[in-house]
Parts: sequence; structure tokens; C-alpha cells
Amino acid sequence: MSALEGKLSTPKNQGNKEPTAEKVERVRREKVNHFRNKHKIYIQGTDLPEPMATFEQLGEEYKVHPKIMQNIEAAGFQTPTPIQMQAIPVMLHGRELLACAPTGSGKTLAFGIPVLAHLKQPMNKGFRALIISPTRELAGQTHRELVKLSEGIGFRIHMIHKAAEAAKKFGPKSSQKFDILVSTPNRLIYLLKQDPPAIDLTRVEWLVVDESDKLFEDGKTGFRDQLATIFLACTSHVVKRAMFSATFAHDVEQWCKLNLDNIISVSIGARNAAAETVEQELLFVGSETGKLLAMRDLVKKGFTPPVLVFVQSIERAKELFHELIYEGINVDVIHADRTQQQRDNVVHSFRAGKIWVLICTALLARGIDFKGVKMVINFDFPSSAVEYIHRIGRTGRAGLTGKAITFFTEDDKPLLRSIASLIQRAGCPVPGYIKHFRKLQSKQKKKLIKKPLEREHILTSPQFLRAKAKKKKRISQKVKKNAKEDKANNSQAQTAPEN
Ligand code: ADP
Ligand code: ADP
Ligand code: MG
Repeated sequence: MSALEGKLSTPKNQGNKEPTAEKVERVRREKVNHFRNKHKIYIQGTDLPEPMATFEQLGEEYKVHPKIMQNIEAAGFQTPTPIQMQAIPVMLHGRELLACAPTGSGKTLAFGIPVLAHLKQPMNKGFRALIISPTRELAGQTHRELVKLSEGIGFRIHMIHKAAEAAKKFGPKSSQKFDILVSTPNRLIYLLKQDPPAIDLTRVEWLVVDESDKLFEDGKTGFRDQLATIFLACTSHVVKRAMFSATFAHDVEQWCKLNLDNIISVSIGARNAAAETVEQELLFVGSETGKLLAMRDLVKKGFTPPVLVFVQSIERAKELFHELIYEGINVDVIHADRTQQQRDNVVHSFRAGKIWVLICTALLARGIDFKGVKMVINFDFPSSAVEYIHRIGRTGRAGLTGKAITFFTEDDKPLLRSIASLIQRAGCPVPGYIKHFRKLQSKQKKKLIKKPLEREHILTSPQFLRAKAKKKKRISQKVKKNAKEDKANNSQAQTAPEN
């Protein structure tokens, strides 16, 4: 290198060369962009916090509690998932967030870590963080994850089990020994609407809405009004809000842009895409009876449990359950008509591997993280693309692979093309003829969500088998009844346990 060249390339050079600080800044920006592109992190907003590449940065840069660091390590989490890489720094900087990342990609930790880090340690100030979930099952799961993640710090993390009990516990006369509340909307609303309110949310500093597009749905079955009441009850001037979901809805985005302060949006990968870790298949079964044949065929060929089977209504869940109990597989059913005790037992047994095939409604479509579900069967075609994404997202989680089979009949033709293109975009083959089907207009799509297809009852087990089962049930009920009466006659006023 000549002396002149050496001089020209020294950083102090003024001329037409870039000044050092700017160059450093440009290189940094390029690096960050490259990192984001590599992990498919798309981000919008101003003053964007940099993503983090490792969990160690939490301790080094953000001074996160060493116990949390230990708990992350003990759980076996080695590197952050893309949503964690970006959402955690955003929330640690106290920025409001709308986040969208695929099913099973670690969103719970993405909000769990910054919320716990922000609260630092237990304080007797009342609830300082609130997490809203659409179902009790999901609230329970999130609660458990937060407890695990904060082990050793002593945070008091609560779930509302019985509203009446909670009213006493959290009411105005209670001491304020709480830190975090995880809840479904209605129970919380019940407490807020007491006079005086039986719960105080005025100290909440982080409000997280998980499955935000679900909770934003309006109408009779939606939670939008309830959510509004909850937002209004969090009156602290320092409250920050974050929304998380695997599916993106424009009305949620609109709302966030209008109501959140200097919001940052983060999406991972293509918005509203089906998980690429799931091998997906569409199976034409002709008619409703064809579905049961196909189901029995799958059972006969052998399958690897655990399997989740989705149907569109509680009634159909019950019907399918009655068909499948004769198949010699460990099958059970979960839906909102069962008692909470039954729901808890079923979830517990399924997690423990005692149930191989679990029939369920949309109740289980959102957020539930059963370890290692091998297959999802859509016995009834989903009523929307969003529903499809969440249902099949119960498998192929945390980097594992899974399989999803979706039955369809002639009647399911209207939505077939939307679902087929989701499947295709996830890299799985679909029958070529579906491309030629007409696309539904959004008005028709909305109609289908509100009022799913009417289907014939699920019923094919031979008449004599059903009669036999009925008789068996009658006999066993009679035996039970007699035994109970005997016991009542003999027992010395023993108190029976509840339920
Ligand atoms: P999502 O809410 O995005 O659907 P979850 O938060 O339920 O996903 O996480 C899915 C699974 O991934 C859980 O079993 C969780 O323990 C696991 N997980 C979360 N973060 C990581 C990580 N950084 N590395 C490995 N596994 C993780
Ligand atoms: P709780 O029933 O615990 O008082 P909520 O009524 O707020 O609490 O809602 C949670 C329960 O309501 C869920 O467990 C589910 O059974 C049912 N539920 C009502 N509407 C929906 C919906 N749109 N999506 C999913 N679950 C719903
Ligand atoms: Mg989740």
C-alpha cells in the first residue's frame, strides 16, 4: 500500500468520504437489517430497539434478574426465537407493541420475560401486570409458564378461579400482596362491575392481550366490549400495552395505531401464514359419512398419538365422541359444555399421554401448547383461514414437526380455495383442480364465520352397537345408584367430598 493510499483510507479523512461516526452508524444499521432479514423479522415504527441475538444479552445489556436467566437456561431454551429476539427488547424499552408470529414460536416468553423484568421484584402495590387470554385453559397455561420463568423471585402470580372467592381476595379490604394477574375477560369484568369494584387495576403497568385478534372480535360471541372495559380500568398514566397473536387483523392494527403510544409493529415471516413445520394434507371424503370412514381408516392403519381432532360445534364433538369410543383407542372430548373440573382433567390426562385422541372444538384452537402433538385432524373443515392456522398450529411447535389432515366434502367447496392456498404457501402440495375454484368475497367469508355450514349428524355406528351401549350404560347407572343408596343407608353421616 502506498503512503498516499494509506492516508486516504484513514478514518479522519474529511474530503468526500463519510465521517467516522456516520460510517459506524451505517455499518451498524446494515448489520441490524441483515440480522432482521435473516430471521424474517419485519418491524415498523420509530426509534426501533435493536433485536437481541442471545439470551445472555438480557443479563449483560438489560440487567434482567439472574434467576430469570437461570430459569431460561434450566428450561433448555438456548437461543431466542425470532419473535423473542425483537419483541423482548421492544418491551424492555417500555414501548407499546403489536406482535404477530407463527403458532408455536414462543410468544409467551416474548412477553413473559420483559413483563417480569420490568416488575423487577415482588411489591405490595397490587397488580402491576395483567395478561388477558381468551380461554381458561390458555390462562392456566400462561400462568404456569410465568410461575416457572420467575421461580425463585417470589412474584405472586394469580388466576381467577372463582369470581366470588376472588372478590374477597382482591377486594378493597385485601392487602395488596399481588403482582401479576392472568385472566379470561368475563371473570375480570365481573369483579370490575361490583360496587365498589372488587379488583383494582389502577396500578397495572403492563397490559398484555394474548390472542389479540380473537379478543378483539365483536358481536355476541366476541370479547371486544369486555376488553374495552378492562382497558379503561387500567388507568395508570404509565400503563403500557402489548398485543400478541399468530394471526393479524386489520381492525386490531387500526385500533392500535389510534390508541397506543408511538406503537411498534413486529411480524415474523409472512402475516397470516400456516406453520411451515406442519406437513399439511387435504383429503376429499365425499360426504359426512365419508369422514367417519376416513377416521376409522386412519385408526386401522395406525397412527402415532397424541392426536387432536377438531369439529365445528359442541354437539358434533359429543356425537363424534360417541362414535369413536367403540374403536378401542383412548379417546376423550373437550368443549365448553363440560364442567371446569372435567376440562381440567381432560387436559391433564392428554398432557400425561393417557388420552391418545382428543376431540375438541375451537376452545382448544388458540394458544394451547400440548407437548409433541403428532397430528391434527380437521374432521370438520374450519370456518375460516384464521381458524385453520390456529387449529393446525397445535402441532409442529417449538421447532418440532407435525402433520395435519383436513377432511373436506362437496359442501366445503366455498372455502376450499383459501385454505388450499395457505397450504400451498406453507410448501405443501394441493390438488391442482382447486386453483380453478372461485374465490369467495369477503362478505361471504364473514357469513361463513358467523354461521358455519349445517352438517348431517355424525352417526354411523351400527344400531345394535348403540343399543348395546345404551343398555350397558343403563345397567351401570342402576348399579351405581343402588350402591349409592346402600352406602347412604349404611354410612354414619359422613360428609361427601364436593362433586
Ligand atoms: P406461541 O405462543 O407462539 O404459540 P408458545 O409460547 O406457546 O408459542 O411456545 C411454544 C413452545 O416453544 C413452548 O413449549 C415453549 O416452551 C417453547 N419455547 C419457547 N421459547 C423457546 C426457545 N427460545 N427455545 C426453545 N423452545 C422455546
Ligand atoms: P369465565 O368463563 O372463566 O368466567 P370468560 O367467559 O371470560 O371466563 O371466557 C372464557 C371462557 O369462555 C372460555 O374458557 C370458553 O369456554 C368460553 N368462550 C366464550 N366465548 C369464547 C370465544 N369466542 N372463543 C373461545 N372461548 C370462548
Ligand atoms: Mg401463545
